[in-house]
Amino acid sequence: PFPYPRPPMTSPRDILSSVFGFPEFIGLQEAIIDHVMGGNDALVLMPTGGGKSLCYQIPAMLRPGVGVCVSPLIALMQDQVQGLTQMGVRAACLNSAMDPRSAWDIEQMALNGQLDLLYVAPERLCKPGFLDFIARCGPSLFAIDEAHCVSQWGHDFRPEYTQLSILKERFPDVPRLALTATADEPTQADIVRNLQLENARVFATGFDRPNITYTVVPKKNPTRMLKRFLDEHHPGDAGIVYRLSRKKVEQTADYLCKNGFKALPYHAGLSARERFENQERFMREEGVVMVATVAFGMGVDKPNVRFVCHLEPPKSLEAYHQETGRAGRDGLPASAWMCYGMQDIAILRAMIDSGEANETRKRIEHAKLGSLFAFLETASCRRQALLAYFGEHIGPCGNCDNCLSPVETFDGTVIAQKALSNIFRTEQRFGVNHLAQVLTGATTDQIVRFNHDRVSTYGIGKDMTPEEWKSVYRQLLAAGLCSVDLERFNALTLNERSWPVLKGERPVRLRKDPALPKRDKKKQRR
Ligand code: ADP
Ligand code: ZN
Repeated sequence: PFPYPRPPMTSPRDILSSVFGFPEFIGLQEAIIDHVMGGNDALVLMPTGGGKSLCYQIPAMLRPGVGVCVSPLIALMQDQVQGLTQMGVRAACLNSAMDPRSAWDIEQMALNGQLDLLYVAPERLCKPGFLDFIARCGPSLFAIDEAHCVSQWGHDFRPEYTQLSILKERFPDVPRLALTATADEPTQADIVRNLQLENARVFATGFDRPNITYTVVPKKNPTRMLKRFLDEHHPGDAGIVYRLSRKKVEQTADYLCKNGFKALPYHAGLSARERFENQERFMREEGVVMVATVAFGMGVDKPNVRFVCHLEPPKSLEAYHQETGRAGRDGLPASAWMCYGMQDIAILRAMIDSGEANETRKRIEHAKLGSLFAFLETASCRRQALLAYFGEHIGPCGNCDNCLSPVETFDGTVIAQKALSNIFRTEQRFGVNHLAQVLTGATTDQIVRFNHDRVSTYGIGKDMTPEEWKSVYRQLLAAGLCSVDLERFNALTLNERSWPVLKGERPVRLRKDPALPKRDKKKQRR
């Protein structure tokens, strides 16, 4: 079925240009390919469109034997295989939609060394008979695409993915790559644990959008703040304004129209026709401001979106990264601007609690919201905090609000020590609410039940409100000075970075929290 036999190719670069027609590798592709060519495991985290496929396709073509790619969706597999065969790559897929005769043909080709890449669904791969077949083919590598499907943390959990750990047991010497675009740290941890990728090197890249300037401000009359921001920074520009509810979408669109903007609403309550028309105008006309719920944006690829504003925070940092990522696709400067208040967080929390999801899911959603909240409150570089969530570590960016105009901070070393030792005294088993109550000397059932009114940190933080203590914990979390244990109801725990603070070896600066009600300045400084 293949037009010509595999030409002799010697190096990844060779294949890159002769087969795929690209002059250069992008991002970490070359490093990943070298790593896999050396027989090593890799966890590859790149956004969609980042160029993950070549990272396993090229090694599969160079290493002896057949490279096996696990992919969850038949349609995706078929697309990939079609694209590859058109370029002359010896690729095929086996799936349940296929008649036995064609499946048999493909198996024969794999056994005869006539295939470089074989795509299969996870449930098929893990059948014992099929693993025997793979063993006879001599696998050159295993690529596990959409690897986040192994994690309950994401939205795409597929139980059959958890069986893939068998690959490690069955083929300990065959390199494995897990690839995904959903790469926050809890997902990564699940992938590593469930697929036994402890020895895999992590390659995280491409999540940064350097031309986007991130700004987060405390909320006070959001529509007026928005207008001022747009007047000052984006007169006449096209952009998206996200709001949480349909009603607010309508109100904000009206308000902007009355103030001379070409604003259009978009939400699921509009007719399909209205939505279509508004989207068309946004795409075609100059300078349209789309005021929308999260219903808007998927598949909207307008290069010159100059700003994405959130008047309420999204529910997670993934959502934030995705939504703000719609700005500045042309590479020119663009803004991500958000305002938020405590009220918003309370609403998002209530939405999770009142939702249909099971308890595990709700706990996960709360933790995601917690990470978002930590991002909102961080006093250091926003981009650093955002990318750290995706496992990409950079220095301060110089292109976010906190870098451009450093927020007012104060020496919070003693406060941080109190907060951390409180975690320790209560045995690293409790969440932020309980910890704040212990510090402020509250009397709750839980405090009585665990005798936490007898620990040495009980009531030592009465000079601050529970809300302020919670902010301190979130800032410590955002700075990585403590951790959260998802397996234990989001309990805060100490980590190796906590101890230098407790021992007085590391000072901590905290931000004056602008989202909190104004209090006596002196108290905040303590
Ligand atoms: P992902 O799987 O990460 O979503 P793909 O592997 O499908 O991304 O690649 C996305 C696009 O980038 C594809 O159109 C692909 O052809 C292109 N691409 C990949 N690597 C390169 C490269 N080195 N140079 C130019 N384009 C590339
Ligand atoms: Zn920055």
